[in-house]
Amino acid sequence: MSKVFTVDIAKCNGCYNCQLACKEEHADNDWRPYAAPQPETGHFWVKLHEHVGGTIPKVKIYYEPHLCNHCENPACAAACKFDAYTRRDDGLLILDPEKCTGCRECEKACPYDAVYFNESEKIAQKCTGCAHLLDHGHKLPRCVDACPTDALGFGEASELQDFVVGADVLKPESGCEPRVYYRNKPGRFIGGTVYDPVEKDVIERAKVRATIGGKTYQTTTDEFGDFWFTDLPTGKYSVVIEAKGFDFKVFDAVDATAPDNYGVNLGDIPLDAAK
Ligand code: SF4
Ligand code: SF4
Ligand code: SF4
Repeated sequence: MSKVFTVDIAKCNGCYNCQLACKEEHADNDWRPYAAPQPETGHFWVKLHEHVGGTIPKVKIYYEPHLCNHCENPACAAACKFDAYTRRDDGLLILDPEKCTGCRECEKACPYDAVYFNESEKIAQKCTGCAHLLDHGHKLPRCVDACPTDALGFGEASELQDFVVGADVLKPESGCEPRVYYRNKPGRFIGGTVYDPVEKDVIERAKVRATIGGKTYQTTTDEFGDFWFTDLPTGKYSVVIEAKGFDFKVFDAVDATAPDNYGVNLGDIPLDAAK
């Protein structure tokens, strides 16, 4: 058996239920031998990452829950000299609270920052996959069960092949072979608003083209003069705006590569009347 987690980013509404449910399940609850109690603060065995793109008023946001990947080739376990990590038959990787000496080597080794240090217990801790629940008849870990939109999934890899095959994993270059699978991470977006500065009115149906490496994406402005390109590959774009009766406008090298901002707002764009 090999259990995996799935995350459909398009379904995640950022409600934080998963984070709260994990806290409720583990904070102050002693689930030894699976895990000692999680501290009330400072630990996020599942952590929602918020990605904001663009600038006001053209802003988009998506959420990405991260948890221990229960990796096939875990750097945490490799770094532990005290044999505190155990692979269960169902594939979950458990950190034994009794064997952990608190040396913190696994915490340093995990490329996903999924290991936390419990200052009062002086041990490392991480997501257990809620193995204590699974072993007592529950089908799902708490976070998955608490997700109201089914953005989180959990089950046998063999039964989730439609999701897993071709899905993304976090930092595939880590060599850890993570087993939390992600789909529907949005691509980059470019947006803007086109207007006539003389009439002080937006321009509808302006044609907008965004070109990168010989490939061109096209759209038109809507009744608010707005245009949006969504789900674009990362890169630098040349954007050309044309409208009947106006001079065209070109933006060279629109940079849709920023690691901390997945969108570009070109702002309010005036077009001059054609001479
Ligand atoms: S995500 Fe980090 S803590 Fe979890 S199994 Fe992989 S290397 Fe270990
Ligand atoms: S599987 Fe359990 S321990 Fe892991 S993040 Fe979800 S609720 Fe927390
Ligand atoms: S519970 Fe589900 S919808 Fe809510 S933040 Fe977590 S993954 Fe997203």
